[in-house]
Amino acid sequence: MNEHTLEEILDFHTRLAEKAAETTDLHKLVESLISETVEYMNASSGSIMVYDRLADCLKLYVSSHHPTLKNKKSGLVAEIPVKEGIAGKVFASGLPIVVENAKNTDDKTKLRRKDDSGSFLSIPLKINKKLIGVLNLNRAPTQPGFTSSDLNRLRAVDTIIASLIEKESFLVALEENRREITGLYEMSSILTEANDFTGRLEEFLEKLSDQLELERLAILRMDKKPNEPERIDQDINFTILAAHNLKPSLLEQMFKSVSSRMQMQLSQSTDIFASDQETMRPPTLSFEEKNGSSRELFCIPLLVEGQPSHVLLVSRKYLDEDTRQASKHYKFLYLVSQNLSLAIERENMIRQINEEQDMLYQSNKRNIFFLEISKDLTSTLDPYTILQKAFNNFNNVIAFTTISILLFDDIENSYRLIVQPDIPVSVHYQKKLSEQVFNLFCDFPADPPLTPANFCKPIFFKPQNQRSKPVADYKHILQLPVVISDKVRGLIHLARTTDVPFNQSDLDSTSQFTGIFITSIKNALIHKRTEKLAFTDPLTELFNHRYFQETLNHEFTRAKRYTKPLSLMLIDIDFFKKFNDTYGHLVGDKVLRHVAAVFKSSVREQIDTVARYGGEEFAVVLPETSLEGAKIFAERIRIAVENSRVIDEDRELAVTLSIGVACTSVTSCEKPSDLIESSDIAMYQAKGNGRNQVKTYNESKLKNAK
Ligand code: GH3
Ligand code: MG
Ligand code: MG
Repeated sequence: MNEHTLEEILDFHTRLAEKAAETTDLHKLVESLISETVEYMNASSGSIMVYDRLADCLKLYVSSHHPTLKNKKSGLVAEIPVKEGIAGKVFASGLPIVVENAKNTDDKTKLRRKDDSGSFLSIPLKINKKLIGVLNLNRAPTQPGFTSSDLNRLRAVDTIIASLIEKESFLVALEENRREITGLYEMSSILTEANDFTGRLEEFLEKLSDQLELERLAILRMDKKPNEPERIDQDINFTILAAHNLKPSLLEQMFKSVSSRMQMQLSQSTDIFASDQETMRPPTLSFEEKNGSSRELFCIPLLVEGQPSHVLLVSRKYLDEDTRQASKHYKFLYLVSQNLSLAIERENMIRQINEEQDMLYQSNKRNIFFLEISKDLTSTLDPYTILQKAFNNFNNVIAFTTISILLFDDIENSYRLIVQPDIPVSVHYQKKLSEQVFNLFCDFPADPPLTPANFCKPIFFKPQNQRSKPVADYKHILQLPVVISDKVRGLIHLARTTDVPFNQSDLDSTSQFTGIFITSIKNALIHKRTEKLAFTDPLTELFNHRYFQETLNHEFTRAKRYTKPLSLMLIDIDFFKKFNDTYGHLVGDKVLRHVAAVFKSSVREQIDTVARYGGEEFAVVLPETSLEGAKIFAERIRIAVENSRVIDEDRELAVTLSIGVACTSVTSCEKPSDLIESSDIAMYQAKGNGRNQVKTYNESKLKNAK
């Protein structure tokens, strides 16, 4: 090698190093290398083939004026199988080939070029004996053919060409790797974020779509496990967990088109990527969209707890001719699908834990509630208070619109239906509910049986939560019989307006509640019965004198405290002695019971107290009632009795009353007996004035009269 050549070689090295420093793009670098080498070797055109290990092929880059080019631009033109043509031979053997004149070569058939004239030279590019590609140079027929001295001249620079290519490929691979790892990292971080799972999956799909230029994506959960031994052509039901750029109808079509093939694959192997380890290519299908354009469709099973229960369905337009790029896609898809499987598995686990915690919390809450309600219910002996307390608390355990309790009342000797609504309910709702409870309970072996006669008018309490519009109807009910001392004595009825039916847990809570409730109500009823016996006059079943005194004392104190009027009515039957004397005591008793019934039906239930004061005298305590009001009231009672007839055998007996009324707002009373005295005075005035009339006690008038 002479001085001149050495200088040229050094110069060439420098130029190549400069070119390499200018670019980070493998394609551009290879193009520069080719054009520099073509010039250096005085060739007409040239090409470099770079070995792609992943795709196991040679990537052909050519210079301008290259015979294979025709009208195309220079650059990457093809991927060539490693054993093809002269370059393939050079690559396979690792030895150069020099053809001085193509016309004379016997290897003509193996030439790839259409133009078989001129001269060419092909050398392997190696670094430390590792083959990285092939360099080819051509000379036109008008130029002198390549000789062994040309080969030597080229050999002086082939290592630097090879190393520059290798370095650049390495950098490109590194960059690709970095991008891939960053992408994967980003995708897996999306999956582990703390927001809602569907949102995360959607973001994940969007990112995946960007990263791999995928067009439509969806993550589905299959509702039938595909590896169950069922018919393969059977339709699989699925739930969409997340979708990107994919309407459910199109998704359905896509899924149908892959479903049977997918089932077949899954029955053979769960790791579809394993079927083609070399390219990591998942099975693809062609899918034609409505507008006729074709898509490449992948269906990647996601193993969740070892079961291919989910799939990642993706489609993209056919765009990638570069198989190495494509296989990178598959590898990426494979990796992300594993990430996705893990995320779904994790999410399922979290949901399960949450559900368990929720159940624990619920059952704990329920137990605390039942403890509270037992305490609360046993703190009172009034059945109505118990009912209301039970209602007020029970909706902490179960969601319902109304809770109703039908219960036999020993004292009233009738069935009473009490309803506590959570929100206002319409008249239609109330009617339907009352009828339903009645009809349902008629089917129970109740003791005593329910009849329209012993079914009292239902009581609807005020709703817990006020809301403007009353709901018109309910959808679901839950009912349980109330059994007291082995007798079916009532019914608990829950109604719900929402679409959620009652479940086993609701039934459990309700029966637990009913148990506590029944114990309390039983005690309260027993207490009330004893109390009633102590305070009831056995003949008339009105309250007795003792109860009257207690009530009057209690109401008197209350009226004083709240400065509300309290009225008292004393009633005496006119000429009662006559009934006894004429018809006997039994008829007298009958008259007493008759007037008692008229009184009871005339007063305000739960507010006024009617008692038998003694003999044929009665008292009515009227809280928060003025003298005027009490007078009107007394007049009404008087007329009701006057207009009624006591039937005895075939006789009709007429009864009249004399009534005296007094009120705390008109009379200066210091103690309850003052009010009794005033009423008594008024009553005697009525007697003295001719009987069958009402008189009020008016202090000022009396004083004036004196
Ligand atoms: P007046 O219009 O003045 O009130 O005349 P009266 O006959 O109603 O008045 P009187 O006080 O003289 O009579 C009350 C009678 O009521 C006397 C008593 O025998 C009778 N009596 C009291 N308790 C009972 C009872 O439990 N049963 C019956 N049958 N009679 C009773
Ligand atoms: Mg009397
Ligand atoms: Mg009398």
